[in-house]
Amino acid sequence: MTAGAGVAGYAEREARLLMHTYTRQPVALVSGNGARVVDSDGREYVDLVAGIAVNVLGHAHPAVTEALAEQAKRLVHASNLYYTEPQLALAEKLVYSAFPSRVFFCNSGAEAVEGAIKLARKWGKVHRNGAGTIVCAKGAFHGRTLGALAATANARYQEPFQPLPRGFVHVAYNDPAAIAAAIDSSTCAVMLEPIEGESGVHPLDPGVLAEIRRICDDRDVLLMLDEVQTGMGRTGDWWAHQRDGITPDVMTIAKGLGGGVPIGAVMAVPRADVLVPGDHGSTFGGNPLACAAGDAVMRTIAHGGLLENAATIGDYLSESLMSLAAAAPIERIRGRGLMLGVALSADVAPQVSAAALEHGVIVNAIGKRTLRLVPPLVLTRDDVDLAVRGLEAAFADVQATG
Ligand SMILES: *Cc1c(COP(=O)(O)O)cnc(C)c1O
Repeated sequence: MTAGAGVAGYAEREARLLMHTYTRQPVALVSGNGARVVDSDGREYVDLVAGIAVNVLGHAHPAVTEALAEQAKRLVHASNLYYTEPQLALAEKLVYSAFPSRVFFCNSGAEAVEGAIKLARKWGKVHRNGAGTIVCAKGAFHGRTLGALAATANARYQEPFQPLPRGFVHVAYNDPAAIAAAIDSSTCAVMLEPIEGESGVHPLDPGVLAEIRRICDDRDVLLMLDEVQTGMGRTGDWWAHQRDGITPDVMTIAKGLGGGVPIGAVMAVPRADVLVPGDHGSTFGGNPLACAAGDAVMRTIAHGGLLENAATIGDYLSESLMSLAAAAPIERIRGRGLMLGVALSADVAPQVSAAALEHGVIVNAIGKRTLRLVPPLVLTRDDVDLAVRGLEAAFADVQATG
């Protein structure tokens, strides 16, 4: 049976019931374990997408399922009118993993970015004569809500939804001089991803982030890093910026934080933390269920050696993929740890991704020339070996059909 044989019914119901906002692969996923997922026909796949960098502990990790079950028996939700233990416990772990800061919890990456934008604007009001402009990078992705979309310089995403909030300027990524030139008296912050994810895994060159940190210090504007995709151990460090020996003033996180349960957060150093009661809020933000999941994820990453695993298995995955390059149009691999972009020398990424499904591997095509791999941090050598064999067969199929 070929992948997707059993999903005709799903597609027909989707067409009737769901807004057509997504282009889906012809597969319905029903269960999983570790880095393996099973579809509605009972076929198993090695999952190198992990819900788009979300399922950092893979599927059905007992630490997450048990934390969720235990918390659900006590208290699922309480609102932020009251104290709850899981929210404080998770904040403690986050601050310990990152830098001295305080945390605001929300429910998604875009929401974390919205919180950071509001915080930067207020900081500019209080500390920089009302400066409210945020310098962002071309190729960035910060989410789909209006503010986050205004920060995302992608004409196709933005055009149908004009007018967008003002006060964002976009300069070349990886270019400290362009950032320095864009900062003026109206600027309150610089916001960027340490590795651009959605545009196809584009890292900053070594030293660039430290240079941008110096510029932000010199010019007295906030440095805000969007680590929604790069964070939670994916690059082999808790947070990608730690490799550069710098600390941002504000950091946005989400995706992997809840191990699959929706949760996001903004973290700010004390000097940037200008929000007071009434400024910002979220009904669900930091609810006990999501925070219990986040707490379990952080504990498991820390005690399960998963930062080390992300680094070493990421290198192994990278090397194994490059060993296919003799027979496949693989140019090079960008990124680090378990955040990898496979750059192709031919416009075949969507075909390879579709063929990979047939061979039991889930990968994500970005544009025509990049495959993105953001697998669970629990990925094993067996998973890699199986996935690379499947990808080899997928490349061969695509080559054969020209
Ligand atoms: C995915 C992503 C977002 C948006 O997160 P959502 O949870 O989809 O709103 C924001 N920033 C970055 C860097 C992302 O990768």
